Amino acid sequence: MTMTADAIIIGTGVIGTAVALELARKGIKTVSIDRNTQIGHGSTAGSCAIIRMHYSTFDGTAFAFEGYHYWRDWSDYLGLSGAADLARFVECGCLVMKTEVNGHLVKHMENSAALGCAFEEWSGEKIVERLPIYSLDSFQPARTRDDPAFGQPNGATLKGGVFWPNSGYVTDPALSAQNLAEAARQKGAAFKMGETVTDILTSGGRVAGVRLASGEEIASPIVVNVAGPGSSIINEMAGVLDDMTITTRPLRQEVVHVPAPDGFDFERNGTIVSDSDIACYCRPEHGNHILVGSEDPPCDAHQWVDNDTDYNRDFTDQWTTQAMRYGQRVPSLGIPQQTRGVVDLYDASTDWIPIYDKSQLPGFYMACGSSGNQYKNAPIAGKMMAELIEYCEAGNDHDTAPLQYTLPYIQQDVDVGFYSRKREINRESSFSVLG
Ligand SMILES: Cc1cc2nc3c(=O)[nH]c(=O)nc-3n(C[C@H](O)[C@H](O)[C@H](O)COP(=O)(O)OP(=O)(O)OC[C@H]3O[C@@H](n4cnc5c(N)ncnc54)[C@H](O)[C@@H]3O)c2cc1C
Repeated sequence: MTMTADAIIIGTGVIGTAVALELARKGIKTVSIDRNTQIGHGSTAGSCAIIRMHYSTFDGTAFAFEGYHYWRDWSDYLGLSGAADLARFVECGCLVMKTEVNGHLVKHMENSAALGCAFEEWSGEKIVERLPIYSLDSFQPARTRDDPAFGQPNGATLKGGVFWPNSGYVTDPALSAQNLAEAARQKGAAFKMGETVTDILTSGGRVAGVRLASGEEIASPIVVNVAGPGSSIINEMAGVLDDMTITTRPLRQEVVHVPAPDGFDFERNGTIVSDSDIACYCRPEHGNHILVGSEDPPCDAHQWVDNDTDYNRDFTDQWTTQAMRYGQRVPSLGIPQQTRGVVDLYDASTDWIPIYDKSQLPGFYMACGSSGNQYKNAPIAGKMMAELIEYCEAGNDHDTAPLQYTLPYIQQDVDVGFYSRKREINRESSFSVLG
């Protein structure tokens, strides 16, 4: 062994670096390990980094509303000494179309109202006033392009939506992880980059450290799996899959970038829109582009991946399908020949809700299964994981007496058992990226 640490964190994405920061703030000597040479260059770099509050469960809504405050107060939260180039939060709001798919947002509004999270109901006229490039023709259900009815309106019109004004997006997600890492470093955290974890070491029935591809071993009584889409491989290495009812799996995604139609400044006047009628979400993107992601409609086959380092990084037909689906909503949209955007992986969990938990191996913890929707929650996930680790290491059994935690900004009590690896599949989930 060449190195020892109080805690090892596998992964330097936005959640991994937030865990490192919050453990370091507790005086724990952490070492973060990542096979990439640059911090934040796993799935975090490919993230759309949308900060929104509408989730299908009450707990999901509370967590996301809490999460928003850290991005709003980014500089204060980091507490960095010295000048730093900081990630920027653009608070442009998020409009969600009312559709049958989301139950016309009744539950989402109830959850937000109960938490004091601001929202406004918008009529169809108000939507077109804000987004004059929009047509409100309905196209549901979403179809594949080989379906003769693709692109044909169904005769109905969208009646309105709900606007969450405090939603927004972060312009450079990799930079946000680097900001967190710098704040952690200033509290004594160490980072070992360009090193792959190949084994989880155990001794006397608990975790004892990790072995790297180089053969080097690092000793530690605590190891936290924040490996993003690589989480299932790490859990398998640790031998902790047996008692998990919720598991994780990498899922390939394509994100489209297209120029906004001439004459409309979407970067300045646009907003995030979640539109289950066309199964797309969008947000403003640098250079007056529109970023378009998929809301995973049932007609699109899931592209599961066996290994997070080995998958097709090129755009496929899915890119064109997504662009054309968005063109149903924006008839003046031009779709360029040259495909631009992002191909990356979600770490999807069985019910699309993350796992923030201990494991059956004492000292081995996991913050994984982020299912394409936990970027926004990274800072609060880091805080909650640090509390959970402290709680378990003090001898408490989180499986039988789950940690109760008060979200610091919104003062809402949460049962951390909600995120258990052993939970029943949560039927309230959207079973999609919407969480
Ligand atoms: C296309 C896309 C769009 C998204 N959009 C949004 C959004 O709009 N809003 C939102 O809230 N969330 C979104 N997400 C989800 C969000 O980006 C993720 O939840 C978040 O970035 C995960 O961070 P992480 O730190 O857990 O993992 P990652 O950023 O994936 O980091 C994991 C790290 O672990 C390292 N690693 C893995 N295995 C090993 C190993 N064996 N040894 C060493 N290192 C290892 C990897 O190199 C990687 O750097 C999106 C995700 C994707 C892919």
